[in-house]
Amino acid sequence: MAEKDMLKFVGLAQAFPEKRPAAERDDDFLEINRTYILAKAEEQASRCSQCGVPFCQVHCPLHNNIPDWLRLTAEGRLQEAYELSESTSTMPEVCGRICPQDRLCEGNCVIEQSGHGAVTIGSVEKFITDTAWKEGWVRPLRPLSDRSGQSVGIIGAGPAGVTAAEYLRRRGYEVHVYDRHDRGGGLLTYGIPGFKLEKEVVMRRLARLEEGGIVFHYNFEVGRDMTLAALRAKHDALLIATGVYKARDIKAPGVGASGVIPALDYLIASNRKSFGDSVPAFEDGSLNAEGKHVVVIGGGDTAMDCVRTAVRQGAASVKCLYRRDRANMPGSQREVANAEEEGVEFVWLSAPQAFDDKGGKVAGVRAQQMRLGAPDGSGRRAPEVVEGGDFRVEADLVIKALGFDPEDLPQLFGAPDLTVTRWGTLRTDHKTMMTSVDGVFAAGDIVRGASLVVWAIRDGRDVAKTMHTYLAARAGASAKKAAA
Ligand code: FAD
Ligand code: SF4
Ligand code: SF4
Repeated sequence: MAEKDMLKFVGLAQAFPEKRPAAERDDDFLEINRTYILAKAEEQASRCSQCGVPFCQVHCPLHNNIPDWLRLTAEGRLQEAYELSESTSTMPEVCGRICPQDRLCEGNCVIEQSGHGAVTIGSVEKFITDTAWKEGWVRPLRPLSDRSGQSVGIIGAGPAGVTAAEYLRRRGYEVHVYDRHDRGGGLLTYGIPGFKLEKEVVMRRLARLEEGGIVFHYNFEVGRDMTLAALRAKHDALLIATGVYKARDIKAPGVGASGVIPALDYLIASNRKSFGDSVPAFEDGSLNAEGKHVVVIGGGDTAMDCVRTAVRQGAASVKCLYRRDRANMPGSQREVANAEEEGVEFVWLSAPQAFDDKGGKVAGVRAQQMRLGAPDGSGRRAPEVVEGGDFRVEADLVIKALGFDPEDLPQLFGAPDLTVTRWGTLRTDHKTMMTSVDGVFAAGDIVRGASLVVWAIRDGRDVAKTMHTYLAARAGASAKKAAA
């Protein structure tokens, strides 16, 4: 190992790929970061100190072998770096783009802790796999054995569903993926905007899965088009990976006025426009921020994506109201900085009280000033109202981005025997990841609650293993029965 090529963090400063200036990027949906050139990627990878106990890897939900692929990159052995990186992840180039690295791998890098600035792990990861796609190193998906006598049904083509699909197909099963949308990718396609993750990056992954024999059934909604039991009867095992989609609402006078809209409707419309689709609710202006005073309510990733989408659509002004302060918001600090550069105004410690309704249309938000009190049950400081701190913000488009809860799946799927937790997420066995219904497994946000793409990938990887164990046992039992 060429240790001498590593450990350069003392003399070599941390350098992320250059960001396009705000004035250049604020009217398009292309990713904001330029990519490294090869020499930069090698140089930045060489800052790694090759820790004996790599905390970066410990805090990566996929336990990616980060120190080794950084070393291979620094040594110019990019194809080997790619092969190592893809051995633990189905989409490293996606994680490299949208993981909150400041809270995961990079936030726990020892040289970040020692004040030198973390190794730019996510940017190197993205560079490695983008290069692999360019160079043709990404191999087609091929089944390694033939288990086509058994079929698997997967409900939901988000990162959890397609990751499980890839691993199960690789083992040789016949794999069918059902999704209610007309395209796969889940929130990678219809939630997360192009300026964080260009659509082509997701589409080429899906195309590879289709070419590998995975069958996608789009515009197919389980519950509407078929009950869970009927789908179960068609397959030897099922996976539910449907994510969480019940938007939390605001209870305040005027919330029903036209122009007060749910975040996901807004983001889906914008993402569809990026694909060139016709979207009537965008074209008639209901889901378009152009020329409007926009107020987004919330402080998570969804709120950050909405404010930055509104900027790109040409809003007259964009404000974000959040009831806690900057240090206590759930969204990524990097995203707040990006939004501020693009002209978004954050109104911290403020909560909506009512929506002014002018002839049925929203005209403003009446808000209350908040302060942070003692920690609540979750350990976070609870916001409290500041008496006399009321104020008004002009608005002709208000976007509600307060997070998501699970839909009522037992009811929706016509499956009363499907057990849920008190939060409405699916209850699964910790070891097998099977739900209360035999042969029906679950993974991703529908089990965890709203989480992260990298955790959905991890769950997809884990559940593929447990489903294989289940299917192999069933195949073994059938073979014994036939031989008897
Ligand atoms: P999803 O991605 O939600 O996929 C579920 C799929 O199931 C969907 O395609 C849906 O159409 C389908 N489905 C649902 N019900 C049915 C049904 N009845 N029949 C058929 N199909 C059905 N995470 C990050 O790590 N980084 C980010 O920057 C980030 N940004 C985000 C921005 C937004 C706006 C949102 C909403 C989330 C963001 N997240 C981010 C979270 C991340 O997207 C999710 O944690 C992740 O996508 C969950 O994956 P999943 O496969 O469990 O579900
Ligand atoms: Fe970091 Fe995410 Fe990549 Fe893991 S998957 S190394 S957490 S960017
Ligand atoms: Fe390298 Fe940082 Fe990981 Fe240590 S923690 S192995 S320095 S990337």
